[in-house]
Amino acid sequence: MEDCLFCKIIMGEIPSAKVYEDENFFAFKDIAPVAPVHVLVVPKKHICSIADLKPEDAEIAGKMLYAIQKVADLLGLSQDGYRVVFNTGEKAGQTVHHMHAHILGGKEMAWPGV
Ligand code: C5P
Repeated sequence: MEDCLFCKIIMGEIPSAKVYEDENFFAFKDIAPVAPVHVLVVPKKHICSIADLKPEDAEIAGKMLYAIQKVADLLGLSQDGYRVVFNTGEKAGQTVHHMHAHILGGKEMAWPGV
């Protein structure tokens, strides 16, 4: 997608602190972290949000959970735990309209956090 910030990051047109990449996913440190560890996992396919998933995206959506698990392992978060957030749509505060998972960790977290 031409004007998508995350598509540009995936293509290397905008620099990022990459932590993981495979055929389908790209992960990088959030530029404005809200936790000691804050990484975004982004599918290379441009899908605007969870609300825009189509039946043909089911495989990539499932694989995304495994990519999140892999990135959390790489970040050393698996033992202590971590939170995964998908802001979806305006009221949830989604600002970049390319589906992404926030992996948050490195601290004790309260719940509910809304
Ligand atoms: O879920 P939401 O759409 O609000 O998240 C977008 C995230 O992308 C923000 O946490 C923001 O800090 C991050 N971001 C980034 N690098 C950019 C622009 C935005 O990490 N160049």
